[in-house]
Amino acid sequence: MDLAEYKGVYVIAEQFEGKLRNVSFELLGQGRKLADTIGDEVGAVLIGHNVKPLAQELIAHGAHKVYVYDDPQLEQYNTTAYSKVLCDFFNEIKPNVFLVGATNIGRDLGPRVANSLKTGLTADCTGLSVDDDKKTIVWTRPALGGNIMAEIICPDNRPQMGTVRPNVFKKPEADASATGEIIDMKVDLTDADFLTKFVELIKMGGGGIKIEEADVIVSGGRGMNGSEPFEGMLKELATVLGGAVGASRAAVDAGWIDALHQVGQTGKTVGPKIYVACAISGAIQHLAGMTGSDCIIAINKDEDAPIFKVCDYGIVGDVFQVVPKLTEAIKKHKGLA
Ligand SMILES: Cc1cc2nc3c(=O)[nH]c(=O)nc-3n(C[C@H](O)[C@H](O)[C@H](O)COP(=O)(O)OP(=O)(O)OC[C@H]3O[C@@H](n4cnc5c(N)ncnc54)[C@H](O)[C@@H]3O)c2cc1C
Repeated sequence: MDLAEYKGVYVIAEQFEGKLRNVSFELLGQGRKLADTIGDEVGAVLIGHNVKPLAQELIAHGAHKVYVYDDPQLEQYNTTAYSKVLCDFFNEIKPNVFLVGATNIGRDLGPRVANSLKTGLTADCTGLSVDDDKKTIVWTRPALGGNIMAEIICPDNRPQMGTVRPNVFKKPEADASATGEIIDMKVDLTDADFLTKFVELIKMGGGGIKIEEADVIVSGGRGMNGSEPFEGMLKELATVLGGAVGASRAAVDAGWIDALHQVGQTGKTVGPKIYVACAISGAIQHLAGMTGSDCIIAINKDEDAPIFKVCDYGIVGDVFQVVPKLTEAIKKHKGLA
């Protein structure tokens, strides 16, 4: 393999029901930084049906080029068909780097493509950089229960692939005046490329704000002592702040709240503007999912709880007294009470 033939940092632009996922923009922002360091271009691969209008949005967020695979057969995500499209893209364009969001779809797609292309993939990365000779991407990811950070490289195969956790990198500001190239690509699929069939889409988790997309998260831990405070006290504070309710694994394991709300290493990684940790001790596996938050507020009755080491504001006290007072004060401040 002549490594010099492979150029460009490419991001798989994930969209759902005609809307780009935030992670696509986060990857473009970081992809652009990597490309600038290498002295190369950054581009996006957009797959779906009637998705071309989204290309301009990707350009506004930093893409120099957007390759569009638009076809009615690609309307719904399909592992084997989308993998085939990406392998075709690789064979035609010969990218150096492929970045995939570590979403349900990305985690399904990434390994399949890497295996077909016989290249290396680092899963669930939280750090991306370029090594000193500017050839190889250094993929950083937590390993061994988050106790070590592994740095992994793919020196001899292309593309260099990785799935990257959502909410680790900041979404870049859109620049409506940015220009780029939109390239229509030929879709070449047969029935044999559809090993699975789309039957029905079942939406879960109700209509509330998802923690991955919330600007404010009010999370509860073991100290909440039951499901009632999640549905009452914490929900009320989250609602007043226009946010969502999160939880530690201890709370999820106790059955007080659904696993969709779990923050941490085996839950979701979040990066809201404000994260309120209520009766959460701050175990390393929990911190792995929320230290990217802009502002962390901790409420805990134990002044030695590790959460106080990472918070911006800390209140030592009983959550059952502090949270209702906080909610009341914010309501007053907002003119709601
Ligand atoms: C492989 C692995 C993966 C894991 N993944 C995750 C993960 O994704 N997310 C996650 O969260 N954990 C995860 N964990 C578990 C993690 O190690 C901790 O056990 C968990 O985060 C603890 O949750 P907690 O902080 O709610 O509970 P605890 O550690 O028990 O802390 C409860 C806190 O509440 C305080 N408190 C109690 N009552 C009150 C009160 N009335 N007012 C104020 N404060 C009060 C206590 O002082 C204490 O600090 C994982 C563990 C392993 C081994």
